[in-house]
Amino acid sequence: MPLRSPLYSQRSLVLTLVALLGAGFLATSFLSYYASRASIRDNIVNTELPLTSDTVYSEIQKDLVRPILISSMMSRDTFMRDWVVNGERDTGQMTRYLNEVMTHYGAYTAFFVSDTSLTYYHAKGVLKQVKTTEPRDAWYFRVRDMKDPYEINVDPDLANKDNLTVFINYKVYDYHNRFIGAAGVGLTVDAVIKLIDKYQQRYQRSVYFVDTFGRLVLTGAEGGPQGALAGQTLAELDSMKNLLNQLPKPHSGSYEYSGQGQGHFLNVRFIPELNWYLFVDKREDGDLNDIRRSLYLNLLICLVVTLTVLALLNRVINRYQSQIQTQATLDSLTELPNRRGFDLLAAQAMQEAQREPRPLTALLLDLDHFKALNDTYGHLAGDQVLIGFARDLESCLRHSDIVSRWGGEEFIVLLKDTDAETGQVIAEKIRRHVEHQPYAYNGNRLQLTVSIGLTSLQPDDTLHTLLSRADHAMYRAKQSGRNRTCVELPHPVYDQA
Ligand code: GH3
Ligand code: MG
Ligand code: MG
Repeated sequence: MPLRSPLYSQRSLVLTLVALLGAGFLATSFLSYYASRASIRDNIVNTELPLTSDTVYSEIQKDLVRPILISSMMSRDTFMRDWVVNGERDTGQMTRYLNEVMTHYGAYTAFFVSDTSLTYYHAKGVLKQVKTTEPRDAWYFRVRDMKDPYEINVDPDLANKDNLTVFINYKVYDYHNRFIGAAGVGLTVDAVIKLIDKYQQRYQRSVYFVDTFGRLVLTGAEGGPQGALAGQTLAELDSMKNLLNQLPKPHSGSYEYSGQGQGHFLNVRFIPELNWYLFVDKREDGDLNDIRRSLYLNLLICLVVTLTVLALLNRVINRYQSQIQTQATLDSLTELPNRRGFDLLAAQAMQEAQREPRPLTALLLDLDHFKALNDTYGHLAGDQVLIGFARDLESCLRHSDIVSRWGGEEFIVLLKDTDAETGQVIAEKIRRHVEHQPYAYNGNRLQLTVSIGLTSLQPDDTLHTLLSRADHAMYRAKQSGRNRTCVELPHPVYDQA
């Protein structure tokens, strides 16, 4: 089974860690986002919108229920009924009565239409005669024929939006329960409109009223959804298409829908007094934007932290790896490259020299009678000498040259850009330096010599053939008396001592 390379397993470890970290971050970010979103939605649907609906409802009751009571009272008023039954004789009496109702109760108008004479009386006198042919009088004939005791009618003339008028049209009967006309008050719904506007602006909610047919009947000053005005139906509005799929006809309840790329929460409430539905609508982006922004910020922080951890881990691993690599290629005693380190450096140097081509000279150095030194002064003394020799060797070479401890008391040097002749000069320099250099140990001055085998790189050489020749030369140096440099080249072979 092939072994995984350490590099591969380190990378996969880093990736696993980063994936775990990232997944953890993502999970917590999204979980907290969804939890906050659920609680915000819950709050909007179950608390905010119903509360708005309650407030608007109580305000509308204040504005409309009182006029309904006033109109009801007018329809039962004995003066009014007596006056009609007695033939509508003194117009002034009726005018005074209507004026009194209007001013006392703060209504916009007060009126009575007699079924006998079809005269329209209001607070300032006789307004006109109602006619079946006049479209603006249609309301009267509708009221006359309806079963309910009264209706609420929003003035269709919407030229002046701010003075939208709502009429309470009450049926009036004589004492024998015969229909004798319609009476009531008209009022503006300014207070409701102001309240709607306040809610729309302050809480970014849309508040409006819709009748049972889905027609807008009352909105804020700016209009309803998409600026739609009273009289328009919701079905005409693009933003309501999605809602109308689930709610073709208004019905009380809580809904969620999307319109024009926006999520909406909607509370619908039926107002029986008006036979209208109150719609309170809130776009989801307002509140959710904040938590969405904090989600993005969280994700950004997670990304930065993950990337930083990745970068740091990578750096630590790389550093650790190169440290291990360096340790594996260095000799711990002399701190020179060991045989493994030498192999790497030599392969590169030989390749360069053969490609260019440039001269390269190899020296194999073996300390003479080193065993005897160990035996006499001890192994530690030998170690000390090896360290000192390594430093001396380096001091005799250029920075670009390759020097390594080949093993035991043997060293190898590769002299770059150096032919055999120059190499020999350098080898001799080393040999003489060592010869005259005593190594101090425990008060002793240890004297040492070195035998050197030299050869130069040939075009068809491998590291093996190169080193074999150097070894051969070194062997000859030993054989011929030590403390000398022997050269071995394919041709000619010459020595120096
Ligand atoms: P020659 O002149 O023929 O090279 O004789 P030599 O004694 O140097 O050669 P030999 O190969 O017989 O002995 C090498 C000695 O080097 C034996 C070994 O104990 C010693 N040696 C090898 N490595 C170390 C080391 O790391 N420290 C010490 N102190 N001695 C070492
Ligand atoms: Mg040896
Ligand atoms: Mg030796």
